[in-house]
Amino acid sequence: MSPPSLTIEGCRICESPAIEPILDLGRQPLANSLRRDRTEVLPLFPLKICRCKACGTVQLTETVNPEILFGHYVWVTGTSEGARKYSHLFSERTVARTHTGRLFVLEVASNDGTFLRCFAERGDRVLGVDPAQNISATAREAGIPTIAEFFGLALAKRIVESEGQADVVMARNVLPHVADANDVVAGMAHCLSVEGVGVIEFHRADVILKELHYDSIYHEHLYFHSLHSIGQLLDRFGLTPFDVTTSQISGGSFVVYFSKSPRARTAALITALQKEEALGVGGAGPWQAFARRCERHRTLLRSLVQAKKAAGKRVIGYGASARSSTMLNFCGIDHRLLDVIVDRAPLKHGTYTPGTDIPIVAPERAFSLKPDVVLLLAWNFCDEILTQIRAEHGWTGEVILPLPGDPEVVEIA
Ligand SMILES: [Zn+2]
Repeated sequence: MSPPSLTIEGCRICESPAIEPILDLGRQPLANSLRRDRTEVLPLFPLKICRCKACGTVQLTETVNPEILFGHYVWVTGTSEGARKYSHLFSERTVARTHTGRLFVLEVASNDGTFLRCFAERGDRVLGVDPAQNISATAREAGIPTIAEFFGLALAKRIVESEGQADVVMARNVLPHVADANDVVAGMAHCLSVEGVGVIEFHRADVILKELHYDSIYHEHLYFHSLHSIGQLLDRFGLTPFDVTTSQISGGSFVVYFSKSPRARTAALITALQKEEALGVGGAGPWQAFARRCERHRTLLRSLVQAKKAAGKRVIGYGASARSSTMLNFCGIDHRLLDVIVDRAPLKHGTYTPGTDIPIVAPERAFSLKPDVVLLLAWNFCDEILTQIRAEHGWTGEVILPLPGDPEVVEIA
């Protein structure tokens, strides 16, 4: 039996032993371990990030055993409405950067096949890879061929043997979740044809730094990538970025386009690299400052919620995600401060948040309690949620927006 977790002794990407601590969020339970029995004791794991002095990659110090990480707890899958809309834009942008004609498109961690569908509808040949058996089955039933395995060089070799090389190989929000990211990129390089286009989408470190997205630090999220670190990772496998676009996924993401045969860098990529360079994203200083700002944010947010509670107000949370788990645990906001947390996913109702023991309930139930204050934990869906709250519950009161930046209170009249 392998141990529950391991502390890295060197960088996961370049193996340099020169790693320096950045931020310690304390020992925390796994962010997705929602449980129905409040008395069930959850294991705690260190939640810290460090930076590799050699290649600049910011990463988690602890690798939790995937069998435990992706174990028994409540998994809510599916694609949000926002992502569905975005999938069309994503495919148009990708197609615009490839050669004309029918393409063979391969997607790593293809989930329910939403993004591949846009290519299939154009007449392209598509193939998805996703380790989750149930999700892969759903995708296949919906007509998207999907292999239910982990993607790496070994599987890439089998795919090329049977299907040939791909014109497009894409991986959206998957590289930060895989400890052996080198193996995934090696596989992508193997599958990509010489004239093909690779696409990687990831939550961008410059926005994490600037807007203080420390809530995106949890045990499943092993890397916090920048254009700088992604460029170095791709370079290890002879791949060269040539263009970049942005998306609002995760509250701010980069979509990097790369190829085997070097293509001229676009003005968009040159500008984005210069901006990152000016911010010093690849260096230690901005990350040390980030850590100090996170600690200050914790004090501000906790005091704000405590003050509302002390004034006799009823406070609830909105959004029981992995991200909110990190924020609640780090800030020490638990069931004594929040009566309930609203979530729209029925599978989560009747469970308790890990480490903070707050009951998760349906929106109708939460708003029937007539809360005075809503702590908007899912702040990256702010507009969508505030519109829903007004339209469906006719609620008025105060909303605490914890992020981006300093906490803010807005009045909903
Ligand atoms: Zn490194």
